[in-house]
Amino acid sequence: MHDKMSELAILGGDRLFKAPLPPYLSLGEGEEEAVRRVVRSGSLSSFYGSPGEQFFGGKEVLAFENAWKNRFKTRHAVSVNSATSGLYAAMGAIGIGPGDEVIVPPYTMSATVMAPLVYGAVPVFADIEQETFGLDPISVQKAVTEKTRAILTVNLFGHPSRLDELKDIAEKSGLHLIEDNAQSPLAEDNSRLAGTIGDIGIFSLNFHKHVHTGEGGMCVTDDDDLGLRLKLIRNHGENAVTHYHIDDITNLVGFNYRMTELQAAIGLEQLKNIDQHVEKREKLSLFLSEQLKDLPGITVPKIRSGCRHVFYVWALRYDAAAVGITRKLFCKAMNAEGVPVFEAYVKPMYLLPVFQQKIAFGSKGYPFSLSPSISYNQGLCPVCECLYEKELIGFEPCAYTVTQEDAEKIVLAFKKIFKNVDSLKALEGKDK
Ligand SMILES: *Cc1c(COP(=O)(O)O)cnc(C)c1O
Repeated sequence: MHDKMSELAILGGDRLFKAPLPPYLSLGEGEEEAVRRVVRSGSLSSFYGSPGEQFFGGKEVLAFENAWKNRFKTRHAVSVNSATSGLYAAMGAIGIGPGDEVIVPPYTMSATVMAPLVYGAVPVFADIEQETFGLDPISVQKAVTEKTRAILTVNLFGHPSRLDELKDIAEKSGLHLIEDNAQSPLAEDNSRLAGTIGDIGIFSLNFHKHVHTGEGGMCVTDDDDLGLRLKLIRNHGENAVTHYHIDDITNLVGFNYRMTELQAAIGLEQLKNIDQHVEKREKLSLFLSEQLKDLPGITVPKIRSGCRHVFYVWALRYDAAAVGITRKLFCKAMNAEGVPVFEAYVKPMYLLPVFQQKIAFGSKGYPFSLSPSISYNQGLCPVCECLYEKELIGFEPCAYTVTQEDAEKIVLAFKKIFKNVDSLKALEGKDK
């Protein structure tokens, strides 16, 4: 009677995947040759921290930036050592300062919401949309005050946020629109590339993203002044403001956010293959969505009309009542089959201790003390909280090499669990 193949792994049956999915490997001969070229050159970085030719970086850095701006059709591309640095530099470049407010979404990697704090401003959280997880323009509009200086939107999981509406709000109120596009290279909104619609777009090149340089980031902008300011903040700008005839030196306190020649050389190769790297994730995700879209209690990722989704995360909405078991047990059962789905993504950012205790720089509450009425209470963004607490299940196409055979097995795992929900319900009873 006992069929080990059809019995759930969590209940002692055979796992669908005998071995864990292997990691996604995007580095090839091109990258290897690029590394050799740089090592042979003897120059692992060519930046100088004072004005002059090398103030803007070495050969590979300039070539990488040039290729990036051609690919994304922007006037400027400014490489940095991480998207985190890029976000900080963007806040600096647009002139954010103490007492200001920046509207951000709560469902994102923490660097997004920390960026305003670095310049003494506070993040003000607006809620996100249930279907595509970007900032909800209605919630954003409500969050605008006379202190608001910018909207820092996130194109989450590979899908553009409502960039046109957000841009309208920004223009109407004299705000900057900045795009955290770390997760969405080549995503599109009405044939325009995500990351290129706001005043500055920030891409991540860390190891987990579609294309990477180990660590790294890229800022793009069409604004000449912002482009130069980003470069000054990246590299000890205080030494260079006189040389570059900068009148307004606001926030031109420089850091060292420089990318090395090695990273840039690898980035050049990654960029050559970016279409292929993105399409692989897209194809896998669209296949999973197509195969699983009719399962009751699961909503596969929505793609807004006119948009291209590049699937940093393939994110489902899960309805426990309709499926019959909790999200936690569902994910546990999937994991037992060897499918690395995860629940919840991240806690709404305002629930982090930094916001709950309002302690960031120093111990006296700066910069929160400058905006005492800002609330970070539970319940602030109900859509985000519901995704976090109940609905969201994710799978990271960027993290694994998934063959067509594996993709079919992932589909099988979902179907296997749906077929055996009743035996899982019994398990859930026992847990309690
Ligand atoms: C990865 C990520 C970042 C940070 O990128 P780093 O390059 O690691 O600094 C910022 N925002 C979002 C939305 C991200 O996914």
